[in-house]
Amino acid sequence: MDQQQNVIELKEVTTSFYSRKQELTVVDRVSFNVKQGETLAIVGESGSGKSMTSLSIMQLVPAPNGKITNGEIIFNGEDLLKKPEKAMYTVRGNDISMIFQEPMTSLNPVYTVGEQIREQLMYHQPLSKREAHQKGIEMLERVGFSRAKEIMGEYPHQLSGGMRQRVMIAIALSNNPKLLIADEPTTALDVTVQAQILDLMRNLSNEYDSSIILITHDLGVVAELAQRVVVMYAGQVVEEAAIEDLFDKPLHPYTEGLLNSMPKLDEEQDRLQSIPGAVPTPDNFPVGCRFVTRCPYAMEVCTKEQPTLLEKESGHKVRCFLHEEGVVNDGEHERSS
Ligand code: SF4
Repeated sequence: MDQQQNVIELKEVTTSFYSRKQELTVVDRVSFNVKQGETLAIVGESGSGKSMTSLSIMQLVPAPNGKITNGEIIFNGEDLLKKPEKAMYTVRGNDISMIFQEPMTSLNPVYTVGEQIREQLMYHQPLSKREAHQKGIEMLERVGFSRAKEIMGEYPHQLSGGMRQRVMIAIALSNNPKLLIADEPTTALDVTVQAQILDLMRNLSNEYDSSIILITHDLGVVAELAQRVVVMYAGQVVEEAAIEDLFDKPLHPYTEGLLNSMPKLDEEQDRLQSIPGAVPTPDNFPVGCRFVTRCPYAMEVCTKEQPTLLEKESGHKVRCFLHEEGVVNDGEHERSS
């Protein structure tokens, strides 16, 4: 496969939740792609829509209230949104795997590690129980277990958080998925174990040339693993850039705020500036720019109109009037027409 070929491409994907009273859009026309061997990070605070975007890819949006209402998700040349639910069973865990923040919730506490790995392998591959067992041991060794044989017979509660996450990674990679979606994979772990898991994911992605979508609120994790970043805010993509461009010259005020709230090695922790306020809920999105209530550069136009996502430089997109041609920021805060 061509190095530049897209493994997955999202086009204008929109996901909403319905209550009797209203439709709440939690993922709003989200588009991006991931190339083979690439790690793309989706960054944002809680409520930004990043996890709901990954659940939309897997078609695991909680039914019946949640629904993907628009867009295409092209994977292997096919639109996943047109696939019947049964076909998605094969895609999930085989072509696309997912690991979550807290592996205890995705590992079944009443089955041994070995039973769970074997089940995953045998569901997707024509392996005997013995072959699946052997492959399970190999996978556990790959993710760094020195006593893999014993771990196969242990239950999730007998393992530490970091060990459980490694088991989840082994299960997720057991069928050589083309795409791994990792949703806050290190958030529940202590700092030393976080570093080990990030190292492991980096090595495995190099070894398998697999693509990763990394969902995180932590730009430190992004810097460790990703080549490209999509920043989400209130259900929308507000910036997309290569990792160096995002860290060196962020264009969106929200990205700037996230970077300012990142601990830096050479600065005192008390100089960290967090972004005041919180992400608005979908029933309370502002009419204009969704970041307007927290933005230090807000202009009058930002309260009235929604900015468009525009490509400013090759591969660097931003959704902000500060970067739109024809918007005057001369103190009068008016939009020229
Ligand atoms: Fe701030 Fe306006 Fe840009 Fe939104 S459009 S981020 S409010 S300057």
